[in-house]
Amino acid sequence: MATLIKNGTIVTASEQYKSDVLIDGEKIVAIGSDLDSRAETVVDAEGKYLFPGGIDAHTHFDLPFMGTNTAGFDTTPAALVGGTTSVIDFTPQPAGMSLQDSIVKHREEAIEGKTAVDYSLHSMIMDSTVPGIFDEFSALVKAGVPTIKMFLAYKGTPFMVDDATLFKGLEAAKDVGMLPTIHAENGDVVSLLQEKLLAAGKTDPKYHAESRPAIVEVEATARAASLAQAADAPIFIVHVSCEGAMLAIRNARQQGVDIFGETCPQYLVLDESYLAKPGFEGAKYVCSPALRPEFNQEPLWQALNNGWLQTVGSDHCGFNMKGQKDMGTEKFTGIPNGTPGVENRLAILYTYGFLQGKLSLQRMVDAFATAPAKLFGMYPRKGSIVIGGDADIVVFDPAYQGKISVETSLHGVDYSAYEGFNEKGRADKVFLRGKLVADGGKFIGQLGQGQFIERTPFGLAYESRMKR
Ligand SMILES: [Zn+2]
Repeated sequence: MATLIKNGTIVTASEQYKSDVLIDGEKIVAIGSDLDSRAETVVDAEGKYLFPGGIDAHTHFDLPFMGTNTAGFDTTPAALVGGTTSVIDFTPQPAGMSLQDSIVKHREEAIEGKTAVDYSLHSMIMDSTVPGIFDEFSALVKAGVPTIKMFLAYKGTPFMVDDATLFKGLEAAKDVGMLPTIHAENGDVVSLLQEKLLAAGKTDPKYHAESRPAIVEVEATARAASLAQAADAPIFIVHVSCEGAMLAIRNARQQGVDIFGETCPQYLVLDESYLAKPGFEGAKYVCSPALRPEFNQEPLWQALNNGWLQTVGSDHCGFNMKGQKDMGTEKFTGIPNGTPGVENRLAILYTYGFLQGKLSLQRMVDAFATAPAKLFGMYPRKGSIVIGGDADIVVFDPAYQGKISVETSLHGVDYSAYEGFNEKGRADKVFLRGKLVADGGKFIGQLGQGQFIERTPFGLAYESRMKR
């Protein structure tokens, strides 16, 4: 079954050009003109862009956190209508369980038969006291899971790793081609600031930001970079929220550290004033790191456009206001951290980045799809529009005008962090491995259609990845 997408403008991380794309089965088999003879289905993409399907390398579906669970994989159609065809989800590690068993459990209980998007998994240390945890890295890499998350935050939980544990983890990761991803905030200081604020009766959502100011992120980012340098290990910093942390990454890379960074839509277009919205509304915006003063946004856009930060992940973490966020009405430390955003990544990057002259289309596609595919070992099967790659393609209509709203969202959460934001242009048609799965903002695929994508270890030549 062949599909021809005609007359579109293909946009990759390095160029854009008008061409037709021929899909046969799940793959892109030809790019060029005069390809029609073989196609049963023809899609006219005149006036539209063709972007590679997005890779959201930072999601938390069905994550148990603070005694409750985020929205599950049955809500992944939200990703597809927003142009994201693959996610890399962080695998929760139940207390006492090995990392490998945690992967099996997450796949079996939360994902298989439910997911609408293709997916891969990051391993994530949530119980650093499990013996032999670093000895598992090699087996994880062999199982197609070549990334591990470690937290420098969340003191008082078994998530948080101290510097010695971090250093051991970095060394162990380096030895087997594992890329460590780091949540960089100084958990000790956050904990002290939280106690101080609560003791002073400062319990509203807005104090979430005061309890974890930018400097605790800057410090932890610089420390992680230094320890990576000491271990001679690569390192990836997730959810960079502020100028200072971005500069710490840029500076470390200039000194030769193999360091990479991600920012998220919420840090590009929202600021700390949202946390001070009247009543308890600020709870919608409680995520960690916290939203920052607005002046941080320009440097983050600039960093993305210049490649000082490589990727944009949503840090999608869907908790409802009713029944979940409202556990923190008495004090901000009881509010589950996280905002939903898997549906909105492309909309924010295009409308508020490209259309406002802050981001080239090439860098947008890179941060949205290509760079995560390369860094996390899915390229070139995923992340670009290339012959032989999976036919994950977004037919993007730049003429569309609308607004983001929870009313039209598929994310299964009772609010949107971007309510009322303009959406200029949108994913008009989305193909996942050659199949049309979203059309005009509607999901037309099936839950369970998503496949597990084994990833290759960090640093492997792209040519050897191609052979897998
Ligand atoms: Zn996260």
